[in-house]
Amino acid sequence: MHVFLWIMKPVQMVDLQGQYANIREEIDEAVRRVLAEACYINGPAVPDFASALAAYTGVSHAVTCASGTDALQLALMALGLQPGDEVITVPFTFVSTVEVVAALGLKPVFVDVRPDTFCMDVSKLEAAMTSRTKVILPAHLFGQCADMETIMRSASAHHLFVVEDACQALGAQVTFSDGSVHQAGTMGDIGCISFFPTKNLGCFGDGGAVFTHDDDLAARIRSIANHGMSQKYYYDQVGINSRLDTLQAAVLQVKLRHLDEYIQSRQHAARLYDEALADCPAVITPAKASFSTHTYHQYTLRVAAEHRNALRQQLADAEVPTMVYYPCPLHLQTAYRDLGYREGDFPVSEALSKEVFSLPMHTELTPDQIQYITKQLKNVF
Ligand SMILES: *Cc1c(COP(=O)(O)O)cnc(C)c1O
Repeated sequence: MHVFLWIMKPVQMVDLQGQYANIREEIDEAVRRVLAEACYINGPAVPDFASALAAYTGVSHAVTCASGTDALQLALMALGLQPGDEVITVPFTFVSTVEVVAALGLKPVFVDVRPDTFCMDVSKLEAAMTSRTKVILPAHLFGQCADMETIMRSASAHHLFVVEDACQALGAQVTFSDGSVHQAGTMGDIGCISFFPTKNLGCFGDGGAVFTHDDDLAARIRSIANHGMSQKYYYDQVGINSRLDTLQAAVLQVKLRHLDEYIQSRQHAARLYDEALADCPAVITPAKASFSTHTYHQYTLRVAAEHRNALRQQLADAEVPTMVYYPCPLHLQTAYRDLGYREGDFPVSEALSKEVFSLPMHTELTPDQIQYITKQLKNVF
């Protein structure tokens, strides 16, 4: 093990320095251009990046904003919902998915996730609907999409909006049964993307984007993100201030050109993990849905709950970092107690929160590092 450590770069959960080093000249040049132009708000890189992103995903409109959380908030603000309207979502996700619903005076209604893909269990959807249900808000967790074909069919049958939390899944592709292929975030009425630095397409700070094919929704989202303004200093609706900085847009323009290769490196790393762990029945490697590609924002394993923490400690002792996404489902969090849920309401989410942990996953992982990580993991059993 020590020999490995000498010749190998220390293993990190993510390696943003290594990723930057490989594209330093392109990035530095793009940043220098913004500094020279000194047009920090809505400079030319912002619409240029938005167009490139729309072209990449095939969506009609990509509206950039200040974060993935803001993207979700803008999406819900644009739908003309009333206080108390219900949004069906999942308790096993990052808090933003649910936080924006509650912050806008809407009511999050949870359905459990699937134990294999960690995404919304669509068989539970209809039972969660009431006369107040207005939106279905699936989260495409860890880099693959929820069952969007079923969600869209169900939404259409019940006249509901669909907002995709695609913050972890930019670049994932879903194939519908008619053979059509769709990018994450472009199937629902609105899709939300985050450019948080550790996301598959990350900037050097906060950033986000909202996708829609609908011209009217796009116009409303654009206006709400800019204080609800129609023409300068005239306001048609209550808005917020949510912008992607020109500097971040310039960084993202460069990194978008590398996104496909970044996704391929993650998929390659995942394949090496899968192969190395195939003979280790004590861990369950990530399942792939038949209809979605997996972009491996995270590579998340399941182990028996009683072994997880000791296992993580032993890996930490061998200098292998791991993380638990997410250790407590949202229906059991203090902030969401008023929703009235109790332990036992969402058994899959509750079990996963005790069983999952994620291995290092990023674009700079080497086969040596993966061999080292999986060897340490298998040594524990
Ligand atoms: C990262 C993330 C967000 C929020 O993104 P920020 O840019 O950090 O605001 C929302 N939902 C999910 C599932 C995420 O992973």
